[in-house]
Amino acid sequence: MHKKTIIYRGNLKSCNYRCSYCPFAKHKALPVEIEKDRQSFDRFCDSIEKRAQTFSIGAVFITPYGEASIHRWYWEGLSHLAGIPEIDRVGMQTNLSFPMEECLKGFNFPHKLCIWATFHPEMTTVDEFVAKCHELVNHHVMVCAGAVGVPENIPVLRELREKLSPVIYLWINKMDGLKRNYRPDEIETFAQLDPFFTYELKNPDADLQMCVDRCFVEADGKIHTCNISRTKDINWYDGSEEEIFEPVCSRKRCSCYLAYGGRADFALRNIFGEYPIYRIPEKLRGVGEDL
Ligand code: SF4
Repeated sequence: MHKKTIIYRGNLKSCNYRCSYCPFAKHKALPVEIEKDRQSFDRFCDSIEKRAQTFSIGAVFITPYGEASIHRWYWEGLSHLAGIPEIDRVGMQTNLSFPMEECLKGFNFPHKLCIWATFHPEMTTVDEFVAKCHELVNHHVMVCAGAVGVPENIPVLRELREKLSPVIYLWINKMDGLKRNYRPDEIETFAQLDPFFTYELKNPDADLQMCVDRCFVEADGKIHTCNISRTKDINWYDGSEEEIFEPVCSRKRCSCYLAYGGRADFALRNIFGEYPIYRIPEKLRGVGEDL
């Protein structure tokens, strides 16, 4: 039995980047939506603080639609949660566009902070992205970096791997919507860039018993066992521990990293450690390195 991992996704459906393929790039958030997101996140953080000990919560991970890191309440909330003794890790998925000095200044226990950095080649350069990843490491923050495996982007992803410090793991996600299978040479190239890329193509059969230590929470408290499993009938804010963590799923396969990477039987736990959801190999964290 592991300590619990809680993933949170707020109300945000807007982003400061304008990637051509992304629906969140086109939505301009209204002030009322932003305020609702802040209130929802504050409520969520309060609930974690109250329940961390009784529920044995070890990790909290923000996986927003759009970009959360540009809103200060996410940093304030994660910093507060990092100060809770039971919490071993807090983290967030981000495009790294947040003002780093300002956001990390005064962050409680930065060694508990895990950043999942996604590279968007339409919106930033390799040099700019790499510099930010290295800056995070120099701030003693754990980080992984990665991108979607778009075949046309192979040259720029090679450049990214070459320029990124070897202490930072580069992941490649399989591309949804490619409308064809990857060619063998593309798989070989992506596997050279990301030694665990083949796990993206395996998609294990769903097995609920592997998902008793996790919960995915939405802004209004709707819960799922993982990010792709169906909504449960009870709410995060009303349910008992037993109800919240009783696994429910109607999927045939665990088809993305946030799903398969959080399973108790994930084969790479020996590499990614107790909280593999952050995708940061234990031996490659780079903490304490000066890059
Ligand atoms: S789809 Fe999600 S909840 Fe269902 S078995 Fe896979 S990881 Fe577990």
